Order: sequence, then C-alpha cells, then structure tokens
Amino acid sequence: MTDPATAGLGWQDYLPDDRRLDGNALAGPLSMLFVPDTALAAGRCGHCGHRDLLARAPLYGDAPGHVLRCGICTHPTLRLVAAPDRFWLDLPGGSALSIPHT
Ligand SMILES: [Zn+2]
Repeated sequence: MTDPATAGLGWQDYLPDDRRLDGNALAGPLSMLFVPDTALAAGRCGHCGHRDLLARAPLYGDAPGHVLRCGICTHPTLRLVAAPDRFWLDLPGGSALSIPHT
C-alpha cells in the first residue's frame, strides 16, 4: 500500500471532483448561522477551553473592532471588525462559536 505522506499526494488527491462545490453553496447555511439571536450563542476559548454564553464574556468595544475575551483566562475568543465595505470575523487560537438553531 502506498503511504500518502511519502507519495507526494495532497488533499486534492482525496476529494473527488463530483463532490466539489464552490463557496457560493455556503451562502444558505451561513445565512442560517448569522440571522438568529446571538444572545443564545456560546463560545469556547481556544486557549483554556472554557465555554460560556457570549453574553457573559467581557467585550472590549473600543479596540479596532470588537474584541471578546475569555472570562477565565482573558485570551481573545472573537474579533469583529466592521470595515466600510465588509465585516471581518476572526475566532483566534482555535476558539469556536456554538449557535443553536431550530
Ligand atoms: Zn480561556
């Protein structure tokens, strides 16, 4: 059996072309994610693993953009910048968002 690590194969070699879409196909699922009331959204700190509602995390809104920090270790868990033509959303260091849907 060929070892993919030594055969010079990349991730493209494992994904069949008939399954590939482009990013436009993500527009529907992303619209479901960003429309709900985020008061019920929870976050996980990528540094210490602490999980809590976003509503309880300390927010610094006077940075360049909004910076949400972990309530335990203070590492940034979310950065949101509203530029004139787009939003930038960053979940640094392995942080994650959990947004319930119906
Ligand atoms: Zn933390």
